[in-house]
Amino acid sequence: MIFYDYSIMYDVIIIGAGPAGLTSAANTAYRGLKTLVIEKQDVPGGLPTLLYPDKIIRDHPGFPIGILGKELSRMLFMQAKNAGAEIKFDEEVLGLKKKNEDLIEVKTIQDVYEGRRVILCTGISNMSKKLEVLRDYSGPNVHYNIENISDFKGKSVIIVGGGDHAFDTAVQVSDVTKSVTILIKDKYAKAKENTIRLAEEQNVKIFYNTEIVKVLKDTTGLLNEVQFSNRETGEKEVVDADKLFIAIGFEPVRRFLENSGLDLLKDGSVKVDEHLQTNIGGIFAAGDITGEVRIIVVACAKGIMAAVYAFEQIKQPYWLH
Ligand SMILES: Cc1cc2nc3c(=O)[nH]c(=O)nc-3n(C[C@H](O)[C@H](O)[C@H](O)COP(=O)(O)OP(=O)(O)OC[C@H]3O[C@@H](n4cnc5c(N)ncnc54)[C@H](O)[C@@H]3O)c2cc1C
Repeated sequence: MIFYDYSIMYDVIIIGAGPAGLTSAANTAYRGLKTLVIEKQDVPGGLPTLLYPDKIIRDHPGFPIGILGKELSRMLFMQAKNAGAEIKFDEEVLGLKKKNEDLIEVKTIQDVYEGRRVILCTGISNMSKKLEVLRDYSGPNVHYNIENISDFKGKSVIIVGGGDHAFDTAVQVSDVTKSVTILIKDKYAKAKENTIRLAEEQNVKIFYNTEIVKVLKDTTGLLNEVQFSNRETGEKEVVDADKLFIAIGFEPVRRFLENSGLDLLKDGSVKVDEHLQTNIGGIFAAGDITGEVRIIVVACAKGIMAAVYAFEQIKQPYWLH
């Protein structure tokens, strides 16, 4: 039998310790609200920590020469901690239940928590989409993020995808690799102009309108070459491939949100009003999970907005009424 500890009641429970969640937590805690952040991974920071810790983020305000993903994450984490937020790691939230006007139950794999308000900052997803042609092949040389850049040293790397993730990765690894080739399904790339230019300057080969048709292995069963074809002409080409990096987007995580009764939009994001409140009163959402402009500064800004609206509901300060 599992005994849940209902004794601690929080003013605000924030789900997800990415940029939105950590910024939101710093704000609610500084405003004197008893704040808990629940994070399913064992590290804070969200995507900048999980997907691109060694990338230099160049478009975040206040850092003229850029800042590493992991360093920005560390600073956001310290800010939330210093403000007094409690942060639990390795705990995945499975569901939310509104008990009454001032009480929401948050169920995780390990426990059940109670909060007066909840701010959902789960991001849209960090589950990478898989390539159909790789259904039967998932060897050690297929990557979805870079854990250790030295794994790519001296390798021929094929990157699939035409967005920022693909081009950022190409720029990041091209210093250490033997060669980098990007295969893009469309006739154009969707990455930032600046990054495309950097990739071209670093001799990254870019093929548009292409798709992988076959993955070829060596005698030991390891990835050796890939065959790709031009989607218009059908012309095929084979290239060396020690490593495959897949950057074709992410699967939205819908189940836990839908099961909790939250209204979602078509792309899997949570529907919110102008106060970032969801269809369930007292449950707010902020960051990538709510929006079309998915960048760190916007996630942080929305995290702050949700914190302020939650504070207003809880404390109802006289100067706002
Ligand atoms: C490859 C790539 C490169 C990028 N580069 C840049 C860039 O250079 N500059 C920029 O401004 N933006 C960049 N972005 C976008 C930026 O990373 C996001 O906008 C930002 O991380 C969103 O923050 P968030 O807190 O909303 O979500 P996330 O960063 O996704 O964090 C969500 C957190 O919630 C946790 N979580 C999810 N579900 C649960 C659950 N059920 N229970 C508990 N915890 C949960 C996750 O583990 C995660 O830690 C990039 C994105 C990608 C994919």
